[in-house]
Amino acid sequence: MPSVSDLSAGVAFVGGSYVPIAEAAIPITDWGFLRSDATYDVVTVWEGAFFRLDAHLERFMRSCERFRLDPGLTIAQITEVLTECVRKSGLRNSYVEMIVTRGQPPWGSRDPRQAVNRFYAFAVPFVWIANEAQRERGLHLKVSEVQRIPASSVDPKAKNYHWNDLTMGLLGALDAGADTVVLGDAAGNVVEGPGFNVFCVQGGTIVTPKDGVLEGISRRTVIEIAETLGMPVELRALPAEELRRADEAFLSTSGGGVLPVTRVDGRVLGGGVPGAVTQRLLQTYWDWHRDPAYSRPIDYGR
Ligand code: PLP
Repeated sequence: MPSVSDLSAGVAFVGGSYVPIAEAAIPITDWGFLRSDATYDVVTVWEGAFFRLDAHLERFMRSCERFRLDPGLTIAQITEVLTECVRKSGLRNSYVEMIVTRGQPPWGSRDPRQAVNRFYAFAVPFVWIANEAQRERGLHLKVSEVQRIPASSVDPKAKNYHWNDLTMGLLGALDAGADTVVLGDAAGNVVEGPGFNVFCVQGGTIVTPKDGVLEGISRRTVIEIAETLGMPVELRALPAEELRRADEAFLSTSGGGVLPVTRVDGRVLGGGVPGAVTQRLLQTYWDWHRDPAYSRPIDYGR
């Protein structure tokens, strides 16, 4: 167990101060906690450099606007806070989260316009959403019976904590012996899973759902890599049955990049090993982490 003051376990920015992650706390009356009334984003640090920080900050600001939340800081100030969390932790590989909550309106008021929004951030050790063995053999995915909350109710393009559907779907998948889950829409198309976008490959064409999803930065990276490598990509509705019968499938996420899938609802894809297209995208995804166009080194010296 790391000690409470062990900064390598993580550093948070709360109420304007930097604190060890184990000491970070929010007021119990914050609507972020009481109502999941918040937005957030997650950027990663790999080998001492942020990956696509600008894209994450842009998306974060758009999410804030969509949910009428005000971070109260400029992009430059947020960059400084995130950098400081990582710098103080000393972590070379880190999962860095920024959050704005509704806060709380004056006591007795239920008017969200009167709430004072709050900004929080933290850096913790890098989070993989699949372990090493799963990454090597490919994930076993279940298509859930739980429907993803419709986009007309909660805009999936704005990153949010409406995770009950994802969590219940994941529990069902784990109970059924799968590693993780993908949820669908009312029409039987798959959309996304807990913390990732989904792709399949059929006859050399890469397909990913167009609507009803968070436009993941890793999803965007995969699409850009595919375009660079001259691989055809289609953004459209992806029926669950098409995913089950695909040559290859994979997930994209800041929590580990391109994660191969080798089984969908018990059906083995591509001989049960990560496919060639998936492997090529995976390799290039990590190569791009060394490209100065996408990586922003952190100065740990200060
Ligand atoms: N979809 C959902 C619901 C997510 O929560 C996430 C990431 O947390 C993603 C997709 C993938 O987004 P990104 O590639 O930006 O990590």
